[in-house]
Amino acid sequence: MSMNTQGRPTGTGSAGAAATGSALLPNEPLLFEIGDTDHSGVDLPDVDLDVSFLGGFERQTPLDLAGLTEPEAMRHYVRLSRLNHSIDSGMYPLGSCTMKHNPRLNEKIARLPGFSDIHPLQPISTVQGALELMNQLSHWLLTLTNTAAVALSPKAGAHGELLGMMAIKAAQEAAGQAHRTVVLVPESAHGTNPATAAFLGYTVKPVPAKADGTVDVEAVKAALSSEVAAIMLTNPNTCGLFEPQVIEIAQAVHDAGAFFYCDGANFNAIMGVVRPGDLGIDAMHINLHKTFSTPHGGGGPGAGPVVLSEALAPFAPVPFVRRAGSGLELVEHVEGSALGRVTAFHGQMGMYVRAFTYMLSHGGDGLAQAAEDAVLNANYVKARLDHIFSVPFPDYPTMHEALFDDSFLRDTGVSTLDFAKALIDEGFHPMTMYFPLVVHGAMLIEPTESESKQTLDRFCDVMAELAQDATNGNKERFTAAPMRAPRRRLDETRAARQPVLTWEKPNRLPKAAE
Ligand SMILES: *Cc1c(COP(=O)(O)O)cnc(C)c1O
Repeated sequence: MSMNTQGRPTGTGSAGAAATGSALLPNEPLLFEIGDTDHSGVDLPDVDLDVSFLGGFERQTPLDLAGLTEPEAMRHYVRLSRLNHSIDSGMYPLGSCTMKHNPRLNEKIARLPGFSDIHPLQPISTVQGALELMNQLSHWLLTLTNTAAVALSPKAGAHGELLGMMAIKAAQEAAGQAHRTVVLVPESAHGTNPATAAFLGYTVKPVPAKADGTVDVEAVKAALSSEVAAIMLTNPNTCGLFEPQVIEIAQAVHDAGAFFYCDGANFNAIMGVVRPGDLGIDAMHINLHKTFSTPHGGGGPGAGPVVLSEALAPFAPVPFVRRAGSGLELVEHVEGSALGRVTAFHGQMGMYVRAFTYMLSHGGDGLAQAAEDAVLNANYVKARLDHIFSVPFPDYPTMHEALFDDSFLRDTGVSTLDFAKALIDEGFHPMTMYFPLVVHGAMLIEPTESESKQTLDRFCDVMAELAQDATNGNKERFTAAPMRAPRRRLDETRAARQPVLTWEKPNRLPKAAE
């Protein structure tokens, strides 16, 4: 196998190539490198047309698309899919990301033609079923959160967050409060929180955490002023702890004339058990792709509906579904709407179907049970490992995530990153590392409710065995890891900063030379 000019391996070779075992190599070539323009996966009859309907816009040059047979195309994508770890191939305890099993029932329902074959521009009278689903999904989200309005359309948690903060900004501008330019963000927050606030032109003011890992309510009170627009708080927080003073914080924020934005990405820990509206939140995004099991992380698009309190409801964006007579209508224009539309069409319909299927198949009590099981599983992992791994905040039981720090690795020459890479060799996706930032060498493990005790035990056994090996001085196993993955360690910074996004056709050997 040779490399082309961009450092990519070239094709698996045509007829007559020497045996290389290249079919087993992880360097899956591009479709363009496997295929050629002489072949096609479909047989179409020659067209006997000498009129064109394209009004002079016909292509003048060949399309030059790679032609492949159906098995070639199929194998290409299946081989690619096997290069990634996935929730379908093993445990994925990535803290804060809630990588839970996506029940196949969700997929089955999402593929019903009445959902999958409709078009967003179809007449409303022909898509009443889809609107009904959006309406009922909204109802469930409002009931679970005890809030007044919901915008389904944001396409990720960060997008929902942006929208919630835009609603806050619009509400304050409408109330003559545009001088409020500061947003309080606890130090343990997810990076999207300060990014959202800064993107909207706010000054971000960090709020310190207490030694026990919870937000310091006195520090919040001290930071509040007539300049503060909102606080952005995660509850349960990113240390996996339920904020014990959340109601007092909400009260203080409201007394200061500010809004309470809650990052709801951790809703999986409390759904059906606590209604965030009861805690005094004004806006919160819900990651359907985390809490309600829709695929994400390369497996599918996200959906981040944002719920709004009574005060913010008039600032919800369009579109939304509304009952009209005996049917439903889609409201796409509201006179004087502050935000208008924030995404094309109506959002991620396929994800609404999956999330709603998950809700209906669990029922209200089942959702509460899922949250309780997620919390139980995290506490089980914590209890099994807390004599080996240090727990930075031992004062509280954990919610849905077990947080450890890397002090057990002191003087071993093994870093948290090395340790996580060694987990890959054992068939597990690494936990979240170095986040939350308030904990040095943080390791955040979120097992979710979908793992069995057997799987949790195997994971804990592996974690304990790795810790033992690291402290015994077997540094090599860690610094050289991963050994068994299709790729070793990547230069992730360079991959992000200098991605190779184009492909140039290599000069193929002339046929006669073969
Ligand atoms: C995942 C997550 C987000 C962002 O959600 P995306 O869908 O990835 O944009 C925000 N906050 C927290 C705490 C999260 O875990």
